Amino acid sequence: MTGLLVGGAVAPATPALAAPTFRVPFPCGQTWSGQTRSDHSPAYAVDFNRTDDSGDPVVASAPGTVDRVTDLGGTSYGKYVRINHGGGYSTYYAHLSGFNVSVGQTVGYGKVIGWVGSTGGSTGPHLHYEQRLNGADIQVRFNGTLALYWGTKSYTSGNGCSSGSGNGTVDTSGTPLTVRSGPGTGYASVGTVADGTRVTIACQTSGTTVTGTYGTSSIWDRIGSGRFIADAYVYTGSDGYIPGVPRC
Ligand SMILES: [Zn+2]
Repeated sequence: MTGLLVGGAVAPATPALAAPTFRVPFPCGQTWSGQTRSDHSPAYAVDFNRTDDSGDPVVASAPGTVDRVTDLGGTSYGKYVRINHGGGYSTYYAHLSGFNVSVGQTVGYGKVIGWVGSTGGSTGPHLHYEQRLNGADIQVRFNGTLALYWGTKSYTSGNGCSSGSGNGTVDTSGTPLTVRSGPGTGYASVGTVADGTRVTIACQTSGTTVTGTYGTSSIWDRIGSGRFIADAYVYTGSDGYIPGVPRC
C-alpha cells in the first residue's frame, strides 16, 4: 500500500475535483418532464419533454467550454452539443433542431446552445441529456440532487435565474439624494445617499412621479429596510424596471 495514512484512510495522490453544480438545461422557471429508463442508451441519460416543445431553447447546464458541435445525420444523437466543464465532467445535448454555439466557445449558466428537435435516431421532439465523468455516463444531478431513477418526474429550472437584486449608481449631479421611508416624496426623510453612491436594489415599486437626472419616472427603488429612493436619479442600465428584480 502506498500513500499517506490520515485517520486510517489512504489519501489519494490527487483529490477528485468537486462536480460542477449542474442545473436543468432549460431557461429559468420552465418545468419539464424528465424520463429515465433502464433500457436507455446510455442508461443514465434523461429524455426531456413538455407540451409543444419542438424548437424550444436548450441552455448550458453549467459553465464550460463547448468542445463538440456535431451533426451525425439521421442516426444516433443527430445534431448534438458537448460541453466540457473541467475536472473530467461533460454534458451532452442531443437531437437538437439547430445550434446556437460553436466549438471553443465559453458558455455560462442559461446560455442558449441550441433548440429542441428530433434529429438523429429520434421518433419525436425531445432533449436527450447526459452527464459524464471521464467519458463514462453518470447519474444526473441537478443542484446536487439525484434525478429520479427510474421513472418520470417534473424538473423546474433554476438555470440562469437572476440573483433577485439589482444594482444602480445614484446620479444627482452633486446634491445628496433624499432617502424616504416609503416610495414617494410624501414619506418621511430617513437620510441621504451621496451623489455617485453604488446601491443594491432589493425590489422596485411604483410611487410618486419624480423628474430627475434620468428623466421622469414613478419607479422607486428599495435600497434597504424602509429605505426608498427615486429611480429617476439612479443609473441602472435599464429604462424602467430592471429585468429580474422583483416588485416590492
Ligand atoms: Zn434519449
